[in-house]
Amino acid sequence: MESTGPKKGTTSGDVSFNEKPVYPNQQYAGLSTGTMTDAGGGGSDGVDGKAKKGATPDHSGPDEVMLRSSKKNTDGGHTDSSTRMSGSIDTTTFDKSGQAIKNRTDNPDKSFSEQTLDPKDHSVKVREQKANGDFSETNLTQDGKVTSKSHVTNPDGGFTDTSVGADGKTETTTRNKAGLVTDRKSENADHSYTERKLNPDNSTTFHDQKKDGSYVETLTDKNGTSTTVHTVNDIKDGGGSTTETTDPSGNVVRDRVTRADGSYFETTKNKDGTTTQHDQKKNLEYSETTVNDKGERVGPVVEVKGASEDFAEKVKADIAQLPASTKKLLADSGAKFLIAGTLVGAMPELEGKRPPGHPVGSTYADIEGSYFPEKRTAVVAEYTSSGPSNRDAGAVRHEGGHAVDHALDYPSNSPEFKAAYDKDVAAMSPETKLREQYLVQAKGGRSEAFAETFAAINGGPANQSQMDQIMQTYPNTIDYVRKRMNEVPQ
Ligand SMILES: [Zn+2]
Repeated sequence: MESTGPKKGTTSGDVSFNEKPVYPNQQYAGLSTGTMTDAGGGGSDGVDGKAKKGATPDHSGPDEVMLRSSKKNTDGGHTDSSTRMSGSIDTTTFDKSGQAIKNRTDNPDKSFSEQTLDPKDHSVKVREQKANGDFSETNLTQDGKVTSKSHVTNPDGGFTDTSVGADGKTETTTRNKAGLVTDRKSENADHSYTERKLNPDNSTTFHDQKKDGSYVETLTDKNGTSTTVHTVNDIKDGGGSTTETTDPSGNVVRDRVTRADGSYFETTKNKDGTTTQHDQKKNLEYSETTVNDKGERVGPVVEVKGASEDFAEKVKADIAQLPASTKKLLADSGAKFLIAGTLVGAMPELEGKRPPGHPVGSTYADIEGSYFPEKRTAVVAEYTSSGPSNRDAGAVRHEGGHAVDHALDYPSNSPEFKAAYDKDVAAMSPETKLREQYLVQAKGGRSEAFAETFAAINGGPANQSQMDQIMQTYPNTIDYVRKRMNEVPQ
């Protein structure tokens, strides 16, 4: 730094240049075409303070050059600098032969772009760096080999480093905010790759993807000792494949046969000894049945049609919450739960129709659940005409209640139920009756009351906020439903 601009103190650009190496924003072509040679013809006389015309092409527009300077470098070359109105500084560095070897633009926010020419092997390096330190860098050799690397900050505060070799191999490493490697992937030009991922539960997944799409995946728990999942995928003719998942002892715990169109049939052995059979028809559409070791269904068939994966998982968990005896009863009766995107989407024949017991003007598009006895199907929808439903758990219990009523051959029609229900209705004030009109309507009221009290005693009614209300308003009905459900074989 022995050489600075001629008028020290007036060249603020030079001061920052000396403190922190900084440079310009010329075109990449400027270096590769060799047009960026020193107008002075190889001299190292840049210390006279006069800007060298041509070394830093003037930009048009408002960001004019305010100040130019030049300094000698220890290697005999020199560096020309132009400070722009915006505060950006363009720098071109020449070697002692007058060959431009570096263009750089530094911006006030610390971002910069830089092109460097190696005069020995004629390789060119281009680097763009952002204010936050993220960068991308590309190297081009004279014989056309390209390599690159980049560093990108992720939304979680961590970052991803990527490098691409001349052989097309891409190495990617992602770290979290604490600097811990969460993902390391090494991908070859033929798209085969290996990847090690750290999962949120501190287990790791190692994936070895072959060129033909087959792979081996190994899951290792957080202690690093036991391998808990091992997946193999054999690609078959026509694009289908089979995937086996084995536990640490080598037992197959999951088996998937994928068809050429992407649909698949999968059986999964559950920890409780049951087996889930999953028939994936297409995206967002499948049916699922869980059977015991004798092959008997232990719960209702679950069908998904148009609902998101998240919603389907949520509703399946809601169904799982039902008592085992209830699930078995539903399974034996042939009942089905249909998890729908929208009710009408899953059952187009309902379009524009009014659900029984609902106000004139309302349609199936407005409700999040319904039971269809002729199909023995309880439908729970993700969306209604007023948006996403958040009443899935209550809807599962209420529509499940209708399915239970059906499976038990309609106890809601029994004299005992009628007596209990009539007693509760008789005790209601006119205001309560008005509020409870859906459950006390002449046609279908008892069926609704059975479903809603069943829901209440199994976790909550369709509207969770009405829990206390239901419990207080239907004490006799609830007693009866409890008693009847206790008679269901456990
Ligand atoms: Zn109902």
